[in-house]
Parts: sequence; structure tokens; C-alpha cells
Amino acid sequence: MTIRSILVANRGEIAVRIIRAAKALGIHTVQVYSAADRDMLAVKMADAAVEIGPPSAAKSYLNIAAVMKAAIDAGVDAVHPGYGFLSENAAFAKAVTDAGLVFIGPSAQAIQLLGDKVEARKVAKAAGVPTVPGSDGRIDDLDAARIVVAGIGFPVMIKAAAGGGGRGIRIAETMEDFERHFPQASAEALAAFGDGGLYVEKVITRARHVEVQILGDGIDAVHCFERECSLQRRRQKVWEEAPAFRLPDAVRTRLCASAVALAREVKYRGAGTVEYLYDEESGEFYFIEVNTRIQVEHPVTEMVTGIDLVEEMIRIAGGDRLSVRQDKIKVQGHAIECRINAEDPVRGFLPAPGTIEALTVPEGEGIRFDTMLYAGYQVPPFYDSLLGKLIVWGETRESCLNRLRQALQTLEIKGLATTIPLHLALAADPAIASGDVHTRFLEPWLDTAFQSPVPPKEVA
Ligand code: ADP
Ligand code: ADP
Ligand code: MG
Repeated sequence: MTIRSILVANRGEIAVRIIRAAKALGIHTVQVYSAADRDMLAVKMADAAVEIGPPSAAKSYLNIAAVMKAAIDAGVDAVHPGYGFLSENAAFAKAVTDAGLVFIGPSAQAIQLLGDKVEARKVAKAAGVPTVPGSDGRIDDLDAARIVVAGIGFPVMIKAAAGGGGRGIRIAETMEDFERHFPQASAEALAAFGDGGLYVEKVITRARHVEVQILGDGIDAVHCFERECSLQRRRQKVWEEAPAFRLPDAVRTRLCASAVALAREVKYRGAGTVEYLYDEESGEFYFIEVNTRIQVEHPVTEMVTGIDLVEEMIRIAGGDRLSVRQDKIKVQGHAIECRINAEDPVRGFLPAPGTIEALTVPEGEGIRFDTMLYAGYQVPPFYDSLLGKLIVWGETRESCLNRLRQALQTLEIKGLATTIPLHLALAADPAIASGDVHTRFLEPWLDTAFQSPVPPKEVA
């Protein structure tokens, strides 16, 4: 069917991004919002807006009944879930399609299958994709677990099958550690995700996080190359790049082909990301999970390939075949994204909601700022702290970094503390410039190298 109207079932910068794509396609937009989000930018931009509940996400953005009522009352053709919230909730995808509407994402069955990290590992194996050495399935009891873990070797990672957003992961260095963590991890996973299922993986000690963007139309699948997301704090990405630096072409070819093989294995439809750990020393890469949604860092891929991933998602959901052929997808130049959060990096990343007193956004060739901010906007304290993403493109990684430093100097968000000082320091760091980083680089660097050479521009 041709999609003529979309309900945006999300908030913040991604809601703005979805509305922009919909408008470019001539599609009518209806934005949902909680009582705390009446003044958000997406509400102002959308053609219509519907309040769906109180500030608490559980009662608004995560409330399937309330979101469905808004969609049905507004008479939209389709629903875009964004990222986070209900985006990887199979019951929501099913509710949308059961109501005769289009879910802009993969089928409920694909979300269910790939959203379970243990099942996703099985799919990867079936597609011939190398996985991190670990348990074959869920591990239910401690006795069986001991044998599996001894076979893998320490340190091991205990992971929640339903985990996400960097949560539901623990490291065990010894068997005693493991025995202590295992029941706690299970109880925690049950409380956080409603599913106490656990699995174990070997810890890849010096790994880089490299992920592949995929697009599928249910018949064919392509990849849009890879992103490098090794700069993480608490297993959450802070800074992302495309393409991955220091990745031999032969590895890139195998990596991207493996993601396409996985997508074909499940006849994937929509945009998705296959995440891997890459061991630079051995040249091996290992599948970790699939995200069945648009990702926060999708703009770096857009900047280097010229493909509008959100528009492509909408077209595929409307029944179109892929508009891009694999041999036409090329990477040009280099792009870096800095996540700008309302957190104070010199005060242990303390959340810092507040009012935007003034906003200066860098402009010029190769500079993009995806945001929900405007001067006078009051950032509510109830949700994710992401304020915006500064994305910079350059012909080479070096020119991209030069341009990024300049753009970060210009970007000014007055009224609250942000992570801009962190990004300024990272952009000036020689280790970053040489690309000599891995997933455990940033946390110790924050304790030692990050003395905030640049004082925070503004503290509320
Ligand atoms: P990406 O995977 O796109 O790089 P993140 O891992 O930061 O981005 O996740 C995107 C958003 O979704 C974040 O706001 C994160 O907190 C949220 N999120 C992801 N998975 C979950 C989950 N299982 N439960 C709750 N929030 C989640
Ligand atoms: P989430 O679903 O929360 O995004 P992931 O499985 O994608 O969880 O892992 C998040 C991050 O945790 C990875 O990017 C990496 O930094 C780290 N990690 C995950 N698995 C391993 C592993 N087996 N060895 C080392 N680091 C890992
Ligand atoms: Mg992940």
C-alpha cells in the first residue's frame, strides 16, 4: 500500500528525524507526546499531535494501548517506532498489523526471533556467521552452567537474552565470581526485561565494536557498509564513525557479506544492524546481536553512502522493493557522530536537565546537527539524556576530524551542562586521531586523560 500518513511513536531527536523523512516523501505526520513533552520540537513540526499519557514512559511511550488508540483515532496508515521504547517490542508490531496498519520495521516474528539474543546467535550460526564462543542456548541452572563456563574459559560475560541499551551484562573473572553473579543477573534480567533468561559469552578483551547496516525488502537484502562504535561508556556508544578505521578490505568484505547472509537467512524486511566485535590482532570478527530498528548512529552511514535510511524504511514498509542495488552502494569520505547528552562529564555524567537559554549550531559543508533543541526549550528530566547528534563529514578521516573540532568549538548549548567538553577533548586526543581504540578505551581514559582541559562552557 502507499503510505499517506504516519504516526510517530517516539520522541526527541528521532521523532524530528522521522518527520523530516516523512515530509520529504509527502506523507502526513501525527506525533504522539506525553504530558511532559507538549513543547517538544516534533509536536511543533508534525501536521497533528496527540497526547497519550502522563510523563512516565511506562504510561505513555511504552503504553501499547495508548499508542494504538492514538493511531486508530488519527486514522493513520502506518506507525514508525523510532529507537528505544516500543521499537523492538514484537507485541507492539503485532498490535499495529492486527489493527490493519503498517509497522515501519520488520515483522513481529523477526523482532521476536532476533530480539532474543540467544535465538539470534542460532540464526547467525545457521547463516555461517562467526559468533563469540559461548553457550549454545540459554543456561538455566548453575550446575549445567559451570560445565559450559569451564569449557569457555574466564573471563566470561553473563548476558540477558532480552537485554539491550548496554544493560543486563556482567563480567565474571573466576568460577566463584560466576556463581555469585549468576542468580543476581537472572533476577535482575527478570525485573528489567520481564525475562530472566541468561547466556554466556567469552570476553573478547581487546575488541572493537564494528556493526553493519543492512536493508532488506523481504526478498533481497543489501548492506550499507559498517560503522565503528568502540567509544563506549557503560557499554553505551558515545562517538561513532563510518567507515571503520584500520579495517582491512578483505575483512570488510567478509564482515559485510556475513551480515547480508544473516539478513537473507530470515528474509529480513526493513532497516537493521548486525553488531560484531572485531579483534584487530587476529583479524577475526564475532557476531554479538541484531538491532531490528533504526539506530541512533544511522546518520554516519547516510553521510558516507548518500542513502536516506529512514526514507528507505518507509518505502520498504509501504511494499516497495529496495531502491538501492548492492553494486551501486559506495562509501565516500568519512563521517563522525558525537552524541550530545544533557549530562555533566566533569561530574560523573550527572544528568543535567534544564532550559536551553541559547543555541548556536555550526553550519557549513559536511555538517549536520540532528536535534530536538530550540532556544527556550525545557529539557524534561524523565527520558534519555540525548539532546542531539553532531555529525561531520570529510573527504578523509583527518579532514573529518579537523572539521569536527571546528564544529564542536562553534556548537554552544547554553543553560545546562552537556557532553560537548568530552567530545572536544576526544577530538583533540592523539589516540583517537590514530584510531588506536577499543571498547574498553574510554572508561579508563575518562579517569586519567580527561581532565576537562576545556572548562565546561555552561553549568546551570
Ligand atoms: P543504538 O543501539 O541505536 O546505538 P542505544 O544502544 O543507545 O543505541 O539504544 C538506543 C536507545 O534505546 C537508547 O535510548 C537506549 O537507552 C534505548 N534502549 C535500547 N534497548 C533498550 C531496552 N532493551 N530497554 C530499554 N531501552 C533500550
Ligand atoms: P546491548 O544489547 O546492550 O547493546 P551488546 O551485546 O550489543 O548489548 O553488547 C554491548 C557492548 O558490550 C558491546 O558493544 C561491547 O562493548 C560489550 N560486549 C558485549 N559482548 C562482549 C564480549 N563477549 N566481550 C567483550 N565485550 C563485549
Ligand atoms: Mg548492542
